[in-house]
Amino acid sequence: MRSSSRAHPRTRREHFIALFPSAPAFRLKQVAQALFQEGAEGWQDITTFPASMREALMRDVPWMSVSEAALRESKRGDTFKAVLKTADGLVFETVLMANARDQWTVCVSSQIGCAMRCTFCATGAMGLRRSLTEDEIVDQLRFWRVFLRSRPHLPERISNVVFMGMGEPLANYENVKSAIRTWLACTDLGPTHVTVSTVGVLPQMEALLTDRDWPAVRIAISLHSADQKRREEIVPSTVPDFLVKLADWSRRYVQILGNRRHHLTFEYTLLQGVNDTEEVARGLGTFIRKTGVKKLNVIPWNPVSGKAFAQSTQERIDRFKAVVSSFGIDVTQRHSMGEDIAAACGQLATAHSGDPSPREE
Ligand code: SAH
Repeated sequence: MRSSSRAHPRTRREHFIALFPSAPAFRLKQVAQALFQEGAEGWQDITTFPASMREALMRDVPWMSVSEAALRESKRGDTFKAVLKTADGLVFETVLMANARDQWTVCVSSQIGCAMRCTFCATGAMGLRRSLTEDEIVDQLRFWRVFLRSRPHLPERISNVVFMGMGEPLANYENVKSAIRTWLACTDLGPTHVTVSTVGVLPQMEALLTDRDWPAVRIAISLHSADQKRREEIVPSTVPDFLVKLADWSRRYVQILGNRRHHLTFEYTLLQGVNDTEEVARGLGTFIRKTGVKKLNVIPWNPVSGKAFAQSTQERIDRFKAVVSSFGIDVTQRHSMGEDIAAACGQLATAHSGDPSPREE
């Protein structure tokens, strides 16, 4: 007989159910609430549980699913990157960055590595190790909360979470959804302050349209090209007729979730000479108009070693933005932060090189 190997460490939920198979459902809610209880440092502090339950939890269930393997701070002190270690000895990254409201945005990972192979991205080059568990996603926010509490000179409030670290969140749909639901239920984070960035995994995008449990978070779709052939070159996971299907999906999203119309954004990483010309910008403007989406966020490419792309000059970026804006689209540019600590978009690859992170204008 083959031994049953687990692809991921056991989660708190799995542990709890194994320990207390007949416990009522509200106990699982209390487990989640305990994780965010003010001042709690372990199960011993959670007095909502009877002593016997507390003892079993302390004995068997890890309070934290990740531990700090390394921590870096940008020179300006506005960006921190942590390398976190899982119970099965893998490492991945999470980033904390100051936002315009003097609060913090946490950039979380959804997977260790990524299977999407985007040609310009550092994570894409490492392939997929495994998806993160719901605990490992939930605990990235908890990690930074503890971090900030231990540094009283820094603003304390985390106001935003973006799934723009390692991995493709919609390829880990259930765990991403559970983690977001836990944050929304147990913290003061609001759904419109959470952004799930996706390369565009159509089956899951289809699923969330009718999934009543899918929270009202913002969705950012990484477009990178409005030309099917060019997009297949830049993003090799692009399926046939992707752009036609994406335009159709976007229109239905706006139709079905009309109250979330403003939650939909396109992201576009600018690669000099590849997808940043005025002609390309006109094609992009025409495409976006067909989708009903009103917002484009352009991301200047953050250099990744070994990749033969070049960063567009600010002059080219400005021209590109102006052309797309002339189609009535609201265009913003993301600025890199923490460039000295390798924390930027698409640079998270756990190779511990040095660089930045995203912030919108
Ligand atoms: N898998 C998700 C999250 C990726 S990270 C997705 O594809 O959306 C968030 C954004 O940063 C994506 O748009 C991604 O394409 C972009 N990105 C990746 N590497 C980058 C780099 N080196 N420079 C600029 N943007 C990059």
